[in-house]
Amino acid sequence: MTLVRKLVWPLVGLCIIASGCSRMRYAPPLTQPIIRVGILEGQDAIYFETADDFNLVAQNPDESAKAFERGLWKATVHAFNPEGARYIALLYDSRERARADEFAGRMRARGIAVRIEPRGEALVIDGHNLVDRRTFRVRAERDFSSKSEAETFLKAYPDIQGRVQRDPAQTGLGKIALLSPNGHTSLISDAIRLSGTNITLRNVEVGSGYHWARNETRTYGGEIELRIGADGKLLAINVVEIELYLRGVVAGEMANSFPVEALKAQAIVSRTLFFNTFGRFHRDSEFDVCDDVHCQAYVGLPRNAAAVESAVHDTKGLVLTYQDALCTASYSAVCGGHTARASEVWDSDGEPYLQGLLDTRTTLGTLDLTREENARTWIEGKPDVCCNLESAGKPDFGRYAEKYFRWQQKVTQEELQRVVRDRTGVDVGEIRDIILLKRGVSGRLMAVDITGSKDHVVVRKELNIRRALSASALYSACFVIEKELDAAGHVDAVIFKGAGWGHGVGLCQLGAAVRAREGQKVSDILHAYYPGTTIKQLY
Ligand SMILES: [Zn+2]
Ligand SMILES: [Zn+2]
Repeated sequence: MTLVRKLVWPLVGLCIIASGCSRMRYAPPLTQPIIRVGILEGQDAIYFETADDFNLVAQNPDESAKAFERGLWKATVHAFNPEGARYIALLYDSRERARADEFAGRMRARGIAVRIEPRGEALVIDGHNLVDRRTFRVRAERDFSSKSEAETFLKAYPDIQGRVQRDPAQTGLGKIALLSPNGHTSLISDAIRLSGTNITLRNVEVGSGYHWARNETRTYGGEIELRIGADGKLLAINVVEIELYLRGVVAGEMANSFPVEALKAQAIVSRTLFFNTFGRFHRDSEFDVCDDVHCQAYVGLPRNAAAVESAVHDTKGLVLTYQDALCTASYSAVCGGHTARASEVWDSDGEPYLQGLLDTRTTLGTLDLTREENARTWIEGKPDVCCNLESAGKPDFGRYAEKYFRWQQKVTQEELQRVVRDRTGVDVGEIRDIILLKRGVSGRLMAVDITGSKDHVVVRKELNIRRALSASALYSACFVIEKELDAAGHVDAVIFKGAGWGHGVGLCQLGAAVRAREGQKVSDILHAYYPGTTIKQLY
């Protein structure tokens, strides 16, 4: 079986740097794809460190060199002149060539000169298009020399939902300054690639917007690309083989002390999710996926993670499919006892394997958690489900997660007022009540009404609800509330009593670990959380 990557990047090219193409990517691999992971964005300076000498390949081949010395380096933007930048007006985008042709025809009939450009990639296995993310973009034929000029052009056609993009193929607008460990500065072109040894990056932002947000120093295999982005700031991109990427994802998304069958399940769902979302997010970015939970948390080369490495190795190329299509293999940390139905959490295709189910070891019962009284009993109780560590005999690996199965978070009146205003844009005044309007099958709230002295606001969707009620976001949207009142009867604080951590759709990571400990194999675990699916070899 061979994997062929179709070359359909006319703007940004699947090509080697020496050709002068902007998006640096190697020639198509035959055994596994190489992908681009965004690590840092919008940086004034990037510090990187290597334990060994490294190679540097620059946009301009004359500047490329081997054996740069090991140590701590600093990259900054020496000069960026957006004056010469070209901008593109994008008018239409379709996955079907015929529709793009038809749209282009209508534009030409109106006297607008347009051009069609295919974009994105397809992964083809044995002549069978398994992952096809190609779209056909219709753009204005001419380039624009400023963003506002392109916007003015679009404004003349209010019926077209267009957007403006800086030409990603354009280079030569700036220079990167590299400060060596010896204090020597060299100026080189606006994109460089570092290779030949592992590269450590400092100040990598982790978990932005969540309760675990912090900065870390991380080490990467593969290559690191540094480039000046459209905003004139530096980006760092890890160009890496998918299987190496997956080691960093499994280590980033699951505790590496978990039993190996659970780590294997994570490797398969992370691989599946990567291919399933490939090309859907970050379409105008210089990379395929970001390294945060928005796509999947990626830590680079994991430390002390032999079990993670073997879990990825033993499942190489395996993905989860449903009726021959890649699954939406969502997962979350702790479901709380019942997984969520995808369509109740985000816009979904109504996947039959993501309908929400009790996280129990035996046959699945039914429990109507959409009813308020059932939800309260459920959340205030400690049901015997897989992610209940107490009933699982308190395994060592799950210590960190004990606090998420059932939890309480107290949020003060002051914080609530501020966070509701910041996150919803509505100043409701003093918070009087939070009315729980609608629950999904897992008991997670789908809508709440936050009522204040001046106004009220209805918040819908799981993540919006979690973020609207706590600065660090509530652990889950499966909660009931209790109000603390002062002597005058005003709300002093709200206590959220909840179940689970995360959106709850698909595999429950903690439940998977308990199942693995109790002897379930990776296929048992995956079939439990994604009923009706099949594990297949993608490459
Ligand atoms: Zn992302
Ligand atoms: Zn669970």
